[in-house]
Amino acid sequence: MAVRSGGTIVTENEVDVAIIGAGAAGIAAGRRLMAARPDLSLVVLEASARIGGRARTEHFGAGLGALDVGCGWLHGARTNAWTAIARQLGLTIDDTRAPWDEGGRKLETNADARPAIRALEAFFERISSHEGEDAALSNLLPADGRWNEYVHAVGGFITGAGLDRSSVVDLQRYEPGPGPDWRVREGYGTVVSAYGGPLSIELQ
Ligand SMILES: Cc1cc2nc3c(=O)[nH]c(=O)nc-3n(C[C@H](O)[C@H](O)[C@H](O)COP(=O)(O)OP(=O)(O)OC[C@H]3O[C@@H](n4cnc5c(N)ncnc54)[C@H](O)[C@@H]3O)c2cc1C
Repeated sequence: MAVRSGGTIVTENEVDVAIIGAGAAGIAAGRRLMAARPDLSLVVLEASARIGGRARTEHFGAGLGALDVGCGWLHGARTNAWTAIARQLGLTIDDTRAPWDEGGRKLETNADARPAIRALEAFFERISSHEGEDAALSNLLPADGRWNEYVHAVGGFITGAGLDRSSVVDLQRYEPGPGPDWRVREGYGTVVSAYGGPLSIELQ
């Protein structure tokens, strides 16, 4: 297969590094490698017809705003590397307080919601105390737990995939760092794809 490298068509044998996947991870790896080793030729191979992976923003035209249909929140925003990247790219950080700051507290005072919240807390406690072999997060749900569907929904928002496809060890390692959750007005997907701009990316 022929690939683009810095605007030149080369064969795959001539590329020093091929990165698989033009999602946030592949793009960040490509940019970091490009900065550290500008002497290497590099291509990002993307299986789909667009870059960004699960970071995807839909645009509705001038003045109509942007809608993130994948990731939308810069968690631990003050120390999240994508916050600095968004600013570097001239995009606008929206530091309005996240709705769950308020919503979470309201739910805690609602007696009907308490059993669901307790089920979720127990699930996260099981994740923290899990030791040994990795497992799918869904393995930590109690058999026939009344709130399993709720835990599935919240867990899916966090991991971006079903609990049966998400790892306990990965979630244990997840540490968003200090700071609130912010958004990017032009969209998180916009940040990720714009950051990939300087890379040679071969789409499907
Ligand atoms: C609805 C939703 C909401 C989310 N909300 C947030 C949020 O608010 N904040 C947050 O931080 N995270 C959120 N996430 C999670 C976040 O989007 C992901 O963690 C992140 O985008 C993953 O990036 P990645 O590069 O690891 O993987 P991906 O984005 O999945 O990218 C992988 C890329 O590799 C390509 N690929 C796969 N296999 C191959 C192959 N064999 N050859 C070539 N290419 C291949 C895929 O097509 C894809 O483009 C959310 C996810 C979803 C789905």
